[in-house]
Amino acid sequence: MTGIVLLGPPGAGKGTQAVRLAEELILPHISTGEILRQNVLDLTPIGEEAEDYMNRGLLVPDELVAKMLMSRFDKADVKKGFILDGYPRNLSQAMTLDDILGARKLDIGMVFYLDSSDNVIIQRLAGRLVCKACAANFHIKNMPPKKKGICDHCRARLYQRKDDQESTVKKRLEVYKKEAASLIEFYQAKEKLHRLSADAEPELVLSEIIEIALKCDDSLKV
Ligand code: AMP
Repeated sequence: MTGIVLLGPPGAGKGTQAVRLAEELILPHISTGEILRQNVLDLTPIGEEAEDYMNRGLLVPDELVAKMLMSRFDKADVKKGFILDGYPRNLSQAMTLDDILGARKLDIGMVFYLDSSDNVIIQRLAGRLVCKACAANFHIKNMPPKKKGICDHCRARLYQRKDDQESTVKKRLEVYKKEAASLIEFYQAKEKLHRLSADAEPELVLSEIIEIALKCDDSLKV
Protein backbone atom coordinates (compact mmCIF):
# COMPACT_ATOMS: atom_id res chain seq x y z
CA MET A 1 0.00 0.00 0.00
CA THR A 2 1.12 3.58 -0.68
CA GLY A 3 0.23 6.27 1.82
CA ILE A 4 1.13 9.75 0.60
CA VAL A 5 0.85 12.91 2.72
CA LEU A 6 0.87 16.40 1.23
CA LEU A 7 2.06 19.20 3.50
CA GLY A 8 2.39 22.89 2.82
CA PRO A 9 0.80 26.23 3.60
CA PRO A 10 -2.79 26.96 2.59
CA GLY A 11 -2.75 27.97 -1.07
CA ALA A 12 0.36 25.97 -1.98
CA GLY A 13 -1.86 23.83 -4.20
CA LYS A 14 -2.19 20.74 -1.97
CA GLY A 15 -5.84 20.27 -2.92
CA THR A 16 -5.24 20.63 -6.66
CA GLN A 17 -2.22 18.31 -6.56
CA ALA A 18 -4.01 15.78 -4.35
CA VAL A 19 -6.95 15.50 -6.76
CA ARG A 20 -4.66 15.03 -9.79
CA LEU A 21 -2.36 12.60 -7.94
CA ALA A 22 -5.35 10.55 -6.80
CA GLU A 23 -6.47 10.28 -10.45
CA GLU A 24 -3.00 9.40 -11.75
CA LEU A 25 -2.16 6.86 -9.04
CA ILE A 26 -5.76 5.61 -8.64
CA LEU A 27 -5.79 6.16 -4.89
CA PRO A 28 -8.50 7.74 -2.69
CA HIS A 29 -8.06 11.42 -1.83
CA ILE A 30 -8.68 12.36 1.79
CA SER A 31 -8.87 16.06 2.61
CA THR A 32 -9.74 17.01 6.20
CA GLY A 33 -10.72 20.54 5.08
CA GLU A 34 -13.11 19.10 2.50
CA ILE A 35 -14.66 16.61 4.94
CA LEU A 36 -15.14 19.46 7.43
CA ARG A 37 -16.70 21.75 4.80
CA GLN A 38 -19.09 18.95 3.82
CA ASN A 39 -20.07 18.55 7.48
CA VAL A 40 -20.73 22.31 7.69
CA LEU A 41 -22.90 22.20 4.54
CA ASP A 42 -24.77 19.13 5.86
CA LEU A 43 -25.34 20.84 9.25
CA THR A 44 -23.96 17.83 11.16
CA PRO A 45 -22.90 18.17 14.84
CA ILE A 46 -19.22 18.06 13.69
CA GLY A 47 -19.94 20.82 11.17
CA GLU A 48 -21.69 22.96 13.78
CA GLU A 49 -18.76 22.65 16.15
CA ALA A 50 -16.14 23.27 13.44
CA GLU A 51 -17.70 26.16 11.51
CA ASP A 52 -16.70 29.03 13.76
CA TYR A 53 -13.05 27.90 13.97
CA MET A 54 -12.93 27.53 10.19
CA ASN A 55 -14.42 30.95 9.53
CA ARG A 56 -11.82 32.53 11.80
CA GLY A 57 -8.91 30.71 10.12
CA LEU A 58 -8.18 28.70 13.27
CA LEU A 59 -7.59 24.99 13.61
CA VAL A 60 -10.57 22.85 14.57
CA PRO A 61 -9.86 20.99 17.87
CA ASP A 62 -7.59 17.98 17.35
CA GLU A 63 -9.97 15.40 18.90
CA LEU A 64 -12.79 16.35 16.56
CA VAL A 65 -10.64 16.03 13.44
CA ALA A 66 -9.04 12.80 14.71
CA LYS A 67 -12.47 11.21 15.26
CA MET A 68 -13.49 12.18 11.75
CA LEU A 69 -10.26 10.80 10.31
CA MET A 70 -10.60 7.48 12.16
CA SER A 71 -13.95 6.78 10.55
CA ARG A 72 -12.50 7.72 7.14
CA PHE A 73 -9.58 5.31 7.59
CA ASP A 74 -12.02 2.54 8.59
CA LYS A 75 -13.28 2.46 5.00
CA ALA A 76 -11.93 -0.37 2.84
CA ASP A 77 -10.70 1.80 -0.05
CA VAL A 78 -7.62 2.99 1.92
CA LYS A 79 -6.13 -0.53 2.00
CA LYS A 80 -4.36 0.07 -1.32
CA GLY A 81 -3.15 3.50 -0.18
CA PHE A 82 -4.31 7.11 0.05
CA ILE A 83 -3.44 10.73 -0.67
CA LEU A 84 -3.89 12.72 2.53
CA ASP A 85 -4.13 16.50 2.33
CA GLY A 86 -4.69 18.98 5.17
CA TYR A 87 -3.57 16.61 7.94
CA PRO A 88 -1.36 16.66 9.99
CA ARG A 89 -1.18 20.39 10.80
CA ASN A 90 0.97 20.04 13.93
CA LEU A 91 3.24 17.57 15.70
CA SER A 92 0.47 16.25 17.92
CA GLN A 93 -1.63 15.45 14.81
CA ALA A 94 1.40 13.77 13.19
CA MET A 95 1.65 11.44 16.19
CA THR A 96 -2.10 10.83 16.22
CA LEU A 97 -1.89 9.97 12.52
CA ASP A 98 0.82 7.37 13.21
CA ASP A 99 -1.47 5.81 15.85
CA ILE A 100 -4.56 5.85 13.61
CA LEU A 101 -2.63 4.28 10.73
CA GLY A 102 -0.70 1.80 12.91
CA ALA A 103 -3.92 0.50 14.46
CA ARG A 104 -5.19 -0.23 10.94
CA LYS A 105 -1.90 -1.70 9.64
CA LEU A 106 -1.51 1.25 7.29
CA ASP A 107 1.57 3.39 6.81
CA ILE A 108 2.92 6.59 5.27
CA GLY A 109 5.33 5.91 2.40
CA MET A 110 6.22 9.49 1.50
CA VAL A 111 5.51 13.06 2.51
CA PHE A 112 5.67 15.95 0.05
CA TYR A 113 6.16 19.45 1.39
CA LEU A 114 4.88 21.98 -1.14
CA ASP A 115 6.65 25.27 -0.53
CA SER A 116 5.17 28.54 -1.73
CA SER A 117 5.85 32.24 -1.22
CA ASP A 118 3.34 34.38 0.69
CA ASN A 119 2.63 36.60 -2.37
CA VAL A 120 1.75 33.65 -4.56
CA ILE A 121 -0.42 32.17 -1.79
CA ILE A 122 -2.43 35.34 -1.23
CA GLN A 123 -2.94 35.84 -4.97
CA ARG A 124 -4.04 32.19 -5.41
CA LEU A 125 -6.47 32.14 -2.50
CA ALA A 126 -8.03 35.54 -3.18
CA GLY A 127 -9.07 34.28 -6.65
CA ARG A 128 -9.97 30.71 -5.70
CA LEU A 129 -13.44 29.37 -6.50
CA VAL A 130 -14.75 26.06 -5.16
CA CYS A 131 -17.59 23.87 -6.42
CA LYS A 132 -20.43 23.48 -3.89
CA ALA A 133 -21.20 19.95 -5.07
CA CYS A 134 -17.92 18.21 -6.02
CA ALA A 135 -15.38 20.52 -4.27
CA ALA A 136 -13.31 21.00 -7.47
CA ASN A 137 -11.08 24.10 -7.33
CA PHE A 138 -10.87 26.84 -9.95
CA HIS A 139 -9.21 30.26 -10.08
CA ILE A 140 -10.66 33.46 -11.50
CA LYS A 141 -7.48 34.11 -13.54
CA ASN A 142 -5.16 31.07 -13.43
CA MET A 143 -7.73 28.32 -13.91
CA PRO A 144 -11.08 29.85 -14.88
CA PRO A 145 -14.12 27.59 -15.34
CA LYS A 146 -15.40 27.31 -18.94
CA LYS A 147 -18.63 29.03 -17.91
CA LYS A 148 -18.45 31.81 -15.32
CA GLY A 149 -19.52 30.67 -11.86
CA ILE A 150 -20.29 27.09 -12.97
CA CYS A 151 -18.26 23.90 -12.30
CA ASP A 152 -16.80 22.29 -15.46
CA HIS A 153 -17.22 18.81 -13.98
CA CYS A 154 -20.70 18.72 -12.45
CA ARG A 155 -22.31 22.04 -13.53
CA ALA A 156 -23.00 23.07 -9.89
CA ARG A 157 -22.40 26.64 -8.66
CA LEU A 158 -18.95 27.86 -7.63
CA TYR A 159 -18.43 29.91 -4.48
CA GLN A 160 -15.63 31.73 -2.69
CA ARG A 161 -14.67 30.17 0.66
CA LYS A 162 -15.30 32.51 3.60
CA ASP A 163 -11.80 31.77 4.89
CA ASP A 164 -10.20 32.82 1.58
CA GLN A 165 -10.65 36.53 2.38
CA GLU A 166 -7.27 38.24 2.69
CA SER A 167 -7.38 38.91 6.46
CA THR A 168 -8.32 35.28 7.21
CA VAL A 169 -5.69 34.00 4.77
CA LYS A 170 -3.04 35.93 6.70
CA LYS A 171 -4.26 34.36 9.95
CA ARG A 172 -4.22 30.85 8.39
CA LEU A 173 -0.66 31.41 7.15
CA GLU A 174 0.45 32.54 10.60
CA VAL A 175 -1.18 29.47 12.21
CA TYR A 176 0.44 27.21 9.62
CA LYS A 177 3.95 28.63 9.94
CA LYS A 178 3.96 28.30 13.71
CA GLU A 179 3.66 24.52 13.41
CA ALA A 180 5.35 23.80 10.06
CA ALA A 181 8.98 23.58 11.24
CA SER A 182 8.32 20.82 13.78
CA LEU A 183 6.32 18.83 11.21
CA ILE A 184 9.11 19.12 8.66
CA GLU A 185 11.66 17.90 11.24
CA PHE A 186 9.40 15.01 12.24
CA TYR A 187 9.17 13.61 8.72
CA GLN A 188 12.77 14.47 7.85
CA ALA A 189 13.92 12.35 10.79
CA LYS A 190 11.85 9.47 9.38
CA GLU A 191 13.51 10.05 5.96
CA LYS A 192 10.14 10.40 4.31
CA LEU A 193 10.18 14.09 3.42
CA HIS A 194 10.46 15.46 -0.14
CA ARG A 195 10.47 19.27 -0.39
CA LEU A 196 9.58 21.02 -3.61
CA SER A 197 8.64 24.46 -4.79
CA ALA A 198 4.97 24.78 -5.65
CA ASP A 199 5.14 28.25 -7.22
CA ALA A 200 5.39 26.70 -10.71
CA GLU A 201 2.46 25.68 -12.95
CA PRO A 202 0.38 22.89 -11.33
CA GLU A 203 1.13 20.37 -14.11
CA LEU A 204 4.91 20.87 -13.65
CA VAL A 205 4.62 20.39 -9.89
CA LEU A 206 2.50 17.28 -10.49
CA SER A 207 5.05 15.67 -12.81
CA GLU A 208 7.79 16.35 -10.28
CA ILE A 209 5.76 14.66 -7.52
CA ILE A 210 4.94 11.67 -9.73
CA GLU A 211 8.57 11.24 -10.78
CA ILE A 212 9.68 11.11 -7.13
CA ALA A 213 6.76 8.83 -6.13
CA LEU A 214 7.56 6.30 -8.88
CA LYS A 215 11.23 6.31 -7.93
CA CYS A 216 10.40 5.69 -4.25
CA ASP A 217 7.68 3.08 -4.66
CA ASP A 218 7.86 0.33 -7.29
CA SER A 219 4.30 -0.79 -6.61
CA LEU A 220 3.03 2.43 -8.24
CA LYS A 221 4.49 1.46 -11.64
CA VAL A 222 1.43 -0.36 -12.98
P1 AMP B 1 -8.05 23.50 4.27
O1 AMP B 1 -9.12 23.17 3.28
O2 AMP B 1 -7.05 22.39 4.44
O3 AMP B 1 -7.40 24.83 3.99
O4 AMP B 1 -8.78 23.63 5.70
C1 AMP B 1 -9.76 24.61 5.92
C2 AMP B 1 -9.99 24.78 7.40
O5 AMP B 1 -10.47 23.53 7.95
C3 AMP B 1 -8.75 25.10 8.22
O6 AMP B 1 -8.45 26.50 8.22
C4 AMP B 1 -9.15 24.58 9.59
O7 AMP B 1 -10.07 25.46 10.23
C5 AMP B 1 -9.91 23.31 9.25
N1 AMP B 1 -9.01 22.14 9.17
C6 AMP B 1 -8.67 21.42 8.06
N2 AMP B 1 -7.80 20.44 8.36
C7 AMP B 1 -7.58 20.55 9.71
C8 AMP B 1 -6.76 19.84 10.63
N3 AMP B 1 -5.96 18.85 10.24
N4 AMP B 1 -6.80 20.23 11.93
C9 AMP B 1 -7.57 21.24 12.35
N5 AMP B 1 -8.35 21.96 11.53
C10 AMP B 1 -8.36 21.63 10.22
